[in-house]
Amino acid sequence: MTEEIAVIPGDGIGMEVVPVAVSVLDAVGEFEFTEYDAGDSVEAETGEPLPAETKQAAATSDATLFGAAGESAADVILPLRSAVGSFANIRPARAYPGVDALHPDADLVFVRENTEGVYAGIESDLTEEVRTLTRVITEPASRAIAEFGFEYAAEHDYDVTVAHKANVMARTDGLFVDTAARVADERGTDYETHLMDALATELVMNPADYGVVVCPNLAGDVLSDLAAGLVGGLGLLPSANIGPERALFEPVHGSAPDIAGEGVANPVATVLSAAMCCEFLDKSESAERIRTAVMEVLADGPHTPDLGGTATTEEMERALLDRL
Ligand code: ATP
Repeated sequence: MTEEIAVIPGDGIGMEVVPVAVSVLDAVGEFEFTEYDAGDSVEAETGEPLPAETKQAAATSDATLFGAAGESAADVILPLRSAVGSFANIRPARAYPGVDALHPDADLVFVRENTEGVYAGIESDLTEEVRTLTRVITEPASRAIAEFGFEYAAEHDYDVTVAHKANVMARTDGLFVDTAARVADERGTDYETHLMDALATELVMNPADYGVVVCPNLAGDVLSDLAAGLVGGLGLLPSANIGPERALFEPVHGSAPDIAGEGVANPVATVLSAAMCCEFLDKSESAERIRTAVMEVLADGPHTPDLGGTATTEEMERALLDRL
């Protein structure tokens, strides 16, 4: 079956790495790609960073592949995630042979609540000098992420840790962690809990002791970027924003304005996001082919400058397509 994929390269290196992921998808399966605008460049032309047509495409396509947005990131990615009804953000962070990683044994998957917490967007100015933010934690969203995370861990054979800060945020993270406990009880899942700050230390020192980490929104954002540093950098980390019927796939990194336009961005994070897209669309064999090609290229080279090499994005694309 031909799946419809909305392709949104966005800004900066998004425009360089997304085309590589599209060629890779094209090499492994039947997809129909339609490209849409979003981000700073379209905002400069029209005053609107997320055209209605782009949001609609994310809401109706089988899957969406997104690159990055620059200054307008929050106005682009948050509505896009909500257009696909995403409640779970999956961010795998694993080390690969051939890549100089701080922890070659790290194999972590962050399952991050994707709709609320401090990213609920409820901020206000009480006075000129005092500003507030409301942190929203609900039982249904906490239940949804715990169920998803425990199921993912069982399917992929990982241990589960639930990250929280309920000793300080007793009402909100108390609800998060209690809900996870109920879900674990219902499912008979073994799991442990960890205070998120202590977990950050643990992840730096002993990442191999952890597998799936179920997190509230902000903790998942921060801890997964931290994990990128353990395995070789942001150029390697894919992500999936999963909704009940649709999903959006994007690299964890942003538009990287410091290297945009130089043709040296590492496309691996976006290509691995494309592999997650195949898995979501029940094309596990295509997903596996992509992952194998990535692993072979990382093991034997070439490598882009972020991994200590001299390869261009285009050379990486050729190497990946050769392997496929
Ligand atoms: P944004 O504001 O869009 O998030 P940023 O520069 O703050 O951009 P990132 O885009 O995530 O954040 O980049 C952080 C650093 O990681 C930059 O130095 C960037 O060059 C590097 N980086 C990120 N992604 C890649 C990649 N795919 N290849 C090479 N380097 C990358």
